Amino acid sequence: MSKHIIVWFRQDLRLNDNPALESALSGDATIIPVFIDDEDCGRQAGAMGQWWRDISLARLHEALVARGSKLIYRRGKTEDVLPALIEEVGASGVYWNRQYEADIVTRDTALKARLKNRGLDAESFNGSLLFEPWEVTSKSTGGPFKVFTPFWRACRVLGIKRALSDAPPRIAAPESWPHSDPLPQATALPHMDRMDDWQPGEDGALAALDLFLTQNISGYAERRNMPAEPATSRLSPHLRWGEISPARIVAETQAADIQTYDGDKFLSELGWREFSYQLLYHNPDLPETCLQEKFEAFPWRNNEDELEAWKRGETGYPIVDAGMRELRRTGYMHNRVRMVAASFLIKHLLIDWREGEKWFWQCLVDADPANNSASWQWVAGCGADAAPYFRIFNPILQGPKFDADGIYTKTYVPELSALSGKTLYAPWTAKSDLLESEQISLGDTYPNPIVNHEAARARALESFKSL
Ligand SMILES: Cc1cc2nc3c(=O)[nH]c(=O)nc-3n(C[C@H](O)[C@H](O)[C@H](O)COP(=O)(O)OP(=O)(O)OC[C@H]3O[C@@H](n4cnc5c(N)ncnc54)[C@H](O)[C@@H]3O)c2cc1C
Repeated sequence: MSKHIIVWFRQDLRLNDNPALESALSGDATIIPVFIDDEDCGRQAGAMGQWWRDISLARLHEALVARGSKLIYRRGKTEDVLPALIEEVGASGVYWNRQYEADIVTRDTALKARLKNRGLDAESFNGSLLFEPWEVTSKSTGGPFKVFTPFWRACRVLGIKRALSDAPPRIAAPESWPHSDPLPQATALPHMDRMDDWQPGEDGALAALDLFLTQNISGYAERRNMPAEPATSRLSPHLRWGEISPARIVAETQAADIQTYDGDKFLSELGWREFSYQLLYHNPDLPETCLQEKFEAFPWRNNEDELEAWKRGETGYPIVDAGMRELRRTGYMHNRVRMVAASFLIKHLLIDWREGEKWFWQCLVDADPANNSASWQWVAGCGADAAPYFRIFNPILQGPKFDADGIYTKTYVPELSALSGKTLYAPWTAKSDLLESEQISLGDTYPNPIVNHEAARARALESFKSL
């Protein structure tokens, strides 16, 4: 009788370079690929993350079918579903790639011990990071790094040792398959009218990397700040669901014919992802608690109407509104605009960064347990190696600086298309006859600013002093 090994897919929805799958395939066992939809453990994906994941699961299933296999999808509590499935199929082992949220780590550790006690071969692997969060430590403290630059330097010294593997041509299947619940259907929301730009799934991830390295990476170090330019990789949702490994991204970037400066800058962004995971692992309540404790006493205003205006993209500041509307229509927001929009919420409106974090969690296709909370804490100034609180992005100047022609802003705020230059980013400064002739009525066709920039800036600095 052949041996069966369950490969438990989680946030590694790919067949290439998947250490758990590769290891399971190294013997002569038949493979039972499984995904367990467990709502009891880990942070549940927001609406857009869920949309992405559901399509990605369908793609993974198709890729498995093409190799003589299939994906078994079950709902329920992992501690019940997995042992029951093991029993049902007579599996001798379970292999998976690790995740790093605290409750998942606790559950997986207990589960592994329980399975091993029953004589099963239970193995976990690193499939989603370049380095395990406990691997890169500061020589001076022996603990995790708190500052990015020495962290990334230490990572580079360690180097990446793992070899890459290709997707197997065939996957040995059992004689009979256990039952699978129907795969979830991805449901698009009516306002998601730009979703065709995305191709969830492993093929989409590999295509995005190829497009970036062959056509778009040139000038990345500068152009990555321009939201109208196709200058970044847009790999974030693919990385979020593990449709591509960071190790593959590093290897292919290093092999590509590109400027070292652009390649290094791009890889350092992957470094920020590693740093965020290290922060999450060592600070499990990163999404809820300020890393710098003094910020817990910050005098937030938390005005509900202003929060809603920010979410709708109706703050009266076109670059902020463009970003918030891009988010709603595409499930994505360019990094430069994420920083401006987040800073506006936290500093101009004095709304707790956790409100923004939760909204991004719901709306981003790349909403990531580590990157999202670490980035919000970075903008708020309360995180590790964060931007200082008094760095307040000026929403009137950021537009002309990074979207000088207004191409990005006008895509999402078309009611201001007739404006240009600095006026586009401060429409209240436009001449009244221009506004009239272009049928722009502030407070009617486009909102008046919900706060005055200078006054809001002064108020933010005053609040910070009170800490
Ligand atoms: C307020 C705020 C919230 C954010 N929330 C998320 C989130 O939920 N998920 C997410 O993946 N990124 C988040 N980011 C980081 C960044 O905006 C996105 O990773 C980036 O815009 C994704 O586009 P890209 O793949 O084209 O990036 P590229 O420039 O091509 O970068 C390559 C990869 O590096 C990683 N990366 C880039 N910048 C960062 C960063 N600052 N921190 C951590 N990793 C980074 C991502 O995995 C990204 O795919 C957030 C940033 C801010 C300011």
